[in-house]
Amino acid sequence: MPELPEVETVLRGLRKRALGRRIVAVEVLHAGIIAGDADDFIARLEGRRTAGVQRKGKVLALELGGVAVEPVYLILRLGMTGQVTLQPVEAPLEPHTHVRIVFEGGKEELRFRDVRRFGRLRCSTREEFEALLKSLGPDAQQATEAEFLGAMRGRRGAIKSWLLNQQGVSGLGNIYADEALFEACIHPLAQPERVSAGSARRLYRAVRKVLKHAVNLQGTSFRDYIDIEGRPGNFLQRLKVYQKTGEPCPRCQSPIRRIVIAGRSSHFCPRCQRRPRHTAGTRRSPGRRS
Ligand SMILES: [Zn+2]
Repeated sequence: MPELPEVETVLRGLRKRALGRRIVAVEVLHAGIIAGDADDFIARLEGRRTAGVQRKGKVLALELGGVAVEPVYLILRLGMTGQVTLQPVEAPLEPHTHVRIVFEGGKEELRFRDVRRFGRLRCSTREEFEALLKSLGPDAQQATEAEFLGAMRGRRGAIKSWLLNQQGVSGLGNIYADEALFEACIHPLAQPERVSAGSARRLYRAVRKVLKHAVNLQGTSFRDYIDIEGRPGNFLQRLKVYQKTGEPCPRCQSPIRRIVIAGRSSHFCPRCQRRPRHTAGTRRSPGRRS
């Protein structure tokens, strides 16, 4: 599932290749991908010019300007398997391509492809877009240490769930949450409010370090993720615990374990990430890897 580093990589691609271009045609091949009415979506996009691109957490938006009109925002949620690519108009259409946005000149188009169809495209006003941004915690890469520690204060439940819920900080998903907790030597079931000040600061630094490294390597392609040129990310080989159940910990050689927290897999080293006395509840993990 695309997380902050993958979405940032798509953003950088769009900034480089897709700004200042006028949209001449929009085709929706699967209306279920559009939040709201598909005809209305098309009408609001056609004739607009791409003026900027923004990201907070995993939310990505293209700002679309026009002559003497308020800008609108094309919000792209990649869901589990969403791909945004810039392609020649004549390139063969791959299965599961749901939306085509053709630029002036008729040579290139943005395509949105999504096998699992959990992604969504939405056209929003500035007010709607700002309300969406406000509903998210500070971006995990840009949060200050004070914001990060402040958001942890008083939070019970598992720290892993807190990292995933997008309200404390936004941008982390299962991959980078597991990697950051390993980096900081914190058990995924620890409770944010009970983590020591030293460990909390270590987690803050670990989140930034892991994200920065992953952005530098254009993200992780576990399943479907690719950048706008169709290239996979290069962080997969750098993962230390995510999906490494049974493999030796790179620090201490203990086998990596997997538990299920709120329905999601968590991978950790039982020796480097000691289970604290007080933890959030859990249940035994089934043997299956996921
Ligand atoms: Zn270890």
